[in-house]
Amino acid sequence: MNHLTDYSALLWVRLGGGRGQAAREGASGPGEWVFTFDDGPEPGPTQAVADALEAAGGRGTFFVIGEKVRREPALARELVARGHRVENHSMSHARCSRLGLKAFLAELNDSKKLIEDVTGAEVRWFRPPFGALRRGQVDAVVGAGMRVAFWNVNPKDWMGAGAAILAGRLERARAKRPLVVMHDRLQSVGPALRLFFERRDDVRAVVLD
Ligand SMILES: [Zn+2]
Repeated sequence: MNHLTDYSALLWVRLGGGRGQAAREGASGPGEWVFTFDDGPEPGPTQAVADALEAAGGRGTFFVIGEKVRREPALARELVARGHRVENHSMSHARCSRLGLKAFLAELNDSKKLIEDVTGAEVRWFRPPFGALRRGQVDAVVGAGMRVAFWNVNPKDWMGAGAAILAGRLERARAKRPLVVMHDRLQSVGPALRLFFERRDDVRAVVLD
């Protein structure tokens, strides 16, 4: 057992590790942005996010919490039916870097199975809550049949900014192959996306692949 800090896996990936096991960039086509949304499904805000993406001809990737899917199975199914991707953000939103292997595998596998049973769609990505993962845990994710999804654009919507400010942060993002992390439990995110797409009709939202 090593004792690397929570963000060591992200750093390791930034340094070039984990090729094929983890994503820190989005898509490669011109104008293609990958938008990901953590912590749902949340009745109201989740549909507002899906509506905003679809109004711009795009789709999103939703990293859902298993316990919330258990409460809102129809909403998870609806996302898949509308062409969005539903992926794994753990069963209980645990800080996985603090978990032993058995508990970590339960967080990974229980939510993967639940999401697949509910939606009928394969789960292929895992986003660790808080971005917190020890380096060795990436192997466990891969062993469970998934890859780790990080991000390279983070407007920090969870800090409470309104839609206009968030849209401005997205516009100023300079990442190549943008891979955005936002949170569809927040009311601000759907309106922020609408403002962003009004100003940036060159952007096409595609799912993480
Ligand atoms: Zn989260």
